[in-house]
Amino acid sequence: MSGRLQHKVAIVTGSGSGIGLESSLLFASEGANVVLADVNLPSAQKGADLIKDRYPTVKGIAVKCDVGKEEDVKAVVDLAVREFGRLDVMFNNAGIMHPEDDNALNTEDRIWDLTMRINVKGVWWGSKYAVLAMRQNPTDEAKGLHVGGSIINTASFVAVVGSATPQIAYTASKGAVLTMSRELAMVHAREGIRVNSLCPGPLKTPLLMDFLNTDEKKQRRLVHLPMGRFGEAIEQAKAALFLASDESSYVTGTDFMVDGGLTNAYVTSI
Ligand code: NAD
Repeated sequence: MSGRLQHKVAIVTGSGSGIGLESSLLFASEGANVVLADVNLPSAQKGADLIKDRYPTVKGIAVKCDVGKEEDVKAVVDLAVREFGRLDVMFNNAGIMHPEDDNALNTEDRIWDLTMRINVKGVWWGSKYAVLAMRQNPTDEAKGLHVGGSIINTASFVAVVGSATPQIAYTASKGAVLTMSRELAMVHAREGIRVNSLCPGPLKTPLLMDFLNTDEKKQRRLVHLPMGRFGEAIEQAKAALFLASDESSYVTGTDFMVDGGLTNAYVTSI
């Protein structure tokens, strides 16, 4: 164990699958105690069980949490502090892309509101309760622990470039995550709390692959990807680890793109 998060405590939302699951395992492998929060408790529990098997020196606790409910988000932060005495890393990663999300004309209010509640309010509440907890973090110089912490909010490449395949509520929600994270970073910078948004490109996780269920749909996206492939969840987890650890101690307010070059490229198929 190389210990890049040794003695630290992390919460990961959406920890039952994809980016959240890979990040929970990676954080634990680097020495963090992890609270795995997901609306789907059995999937989060599987992650906690893997941590128990693979990394017995740390603890993974699974908890049912719908990030679209403020009381659930507060309860998760309270649990982390009660159980481990501090909170160093808050990874607000849970998000949805609803199958009925469409263009401006066809998207119904209820889809818009649900998407905003989970993707935007969930990140706001996660950040709010993380700030309150991180302010109280005890300092222990010998263990490299200090007041403050790292908040990582999962946005998306679509927050920067928009999407030609319509998903207006999702795209708007991720733009909100991006700008909210920049403001949080500025407001809390002098408290030792860093806030960055992680902006994944299109990934091979259930969120996107359930949606791109034909070869034609996949090809429509692949043509825009400079590397000619979708990303992997573990590639996002490694970026999240950097943002979570003190290696990124002078990094705050960034739109941390992990998109295979997508947002900086004009690409055509060869
Ligand atoms: P995923 O579908 O593999 O996993 C998402 C997890 O979030 C699931 O375990 C699910 O149960 C959980 N979840 C859903 N709603 C929740 C809620 N209300 N409260 C708590 N947990 C909830 O997805 P992923 O690809 O790992 O996506 C993670 C994040 O990355 C999301 O915010 C997503 O928008 C973002 N993202 C994904 C892609 C992509 O291509 N997959 C691209 C850019 C951004």
